[in-house]
Amino acid sequence: MVSRNTNIIDYQEEKVNILENSLAKKNKVLEYLPLKQKKSSFLVKLSQELIELEDPEDIFDFLISAVNKLFPDFTFVSLYEFNKKNHSLELIHSLKKKDMAIKEKQGCEIERWMMRQNSSILIEDIRKDFRFDSSQIDGFLQRKSLSFLASPLSVGEDFFGIIRIESEKANFFSYDDLRSLSNICDLGAVVFERANLIKRVQELAITDSLTSLPLRNYFIEKTKAEFNRARDGSTSVGLVMFDIDDFKKINDTHGHMVGDLVLKKFAKILKSIEEDPRSAVCRYGGEEFMILVADTNREEVSKIAENIRKKASNSTVSYRRNKVNFTISGGLAIYPDGGKSLDQIFSFVDRMMYQAKKEGKNRICPSL
Ligand code: GH3
Ligand code: MG
Ligand code: MG
Repeated sequence: MVSRNTNIIDYQEEKVNILENSLAKKNKVLEYLPLKQKKSSFLVKLSQELIELEDPEDIFDFLISAVNKLFPDFTFVSLYEFNKKNHSLELIHSLKKKDMAIKEKQGCEIERWMMRQNSSILIEDIRKDFRFDSSQIDGFLQRKSLSFLASPLSVGEDFFGIIRIESEKANFFSYDDLRSLSNICDLGAVVFERANLIKRVQELAITDSLTSLPLRNYFIEKTKAEFNRARDGSTSVGLVMFDIDDFKKINDTHGHMVGDLVLKKFAKILKSIEEDPRSAVCRYGGEEFMILVADTNREEVSKIAENIRKKASNSTVSYRRNKVNFTISGGLAIYPDGGKSLDQIFSFVDRMMYQAKKEGKNRICPSL
């Protein structure tokens, strides 16, 4: 009888233990739940703010500050942008807790692994991770980082960069952290792609498709801004309008396609002056082009215009076995000396251009 009772007590005690265990586990979940809820609502708020952004720079800044808020105890955070032209990564943002060396300006083995896999990564302890040789990882060598969390900024096959977070502590990041970072990066990448598309559409709207030069409206806005800056006479702005001589004859003799090649050739000559940040260029109309030079004087603009004229007259367009030469005429004006308003300057430039035609073409008027 005693033994039967003992068995029942043992059984009941075991049941109580199991229940207590399960209760302890549930309590842990309940304790964690408000934290998880806080994190989810933080991520939702973050997403809402992120999707408002349209400037790639702002998006990168935002992502870095989001990572800073989400992982405040990091040792080091780095954001790499992918340069499509030379297929390499460039460190464009970093956050560090103390003064520390950053050697891997173009990423390290971890980033190269991620680019091959197009996947995010959690490294709990770099010394024990079979995928990497810790003696090759700068974060470990320079900053003594042991755990790493990184996610690509990519949409499908389009890859824009990588965000990496490091900690000096091993096992610092969880898989939940990996999911949070991946979610931010995925959304960041979509918003970044949209920003790039918007930028491209805006560029196309102001660019001439044949010559890739900006169009007239964009140039006029830029001219207005420069005139405003020079209104008090403290500085001058030079404007030159160029027109290809006898262009109709080139079209009639060699065909429109050759005419187009001449336009492209001249646009290429003009583009070289864009290297000077004071300058702007546009295709003003059919075979008419304009340049602007800010913070200048008559002598300098005349020299620039003359140089362009010479380059044009020395250049040749080749097609089949023919070589086509062309010349240009130009009209020049200086603001504010040559006129007080945009209209006055533009009509002066126009008159000077026709003067150059009248005087025999292949020249700039007024000449120095
Ligand atoms: P001038 O020396 O007085 O400037 O004479 P011109 O023949 O250059 O000037 P005109 O205004 O008589 O002719 C300009 C021609 O440019 C007429 C037009 O068909 C041609 N044109 C305009 N846009 C384009 C273009 O995009 N491609 C080609 N091939 N021709 C164009
Ligand atoms: Mg013309
Ligand atoms: Mg012409």
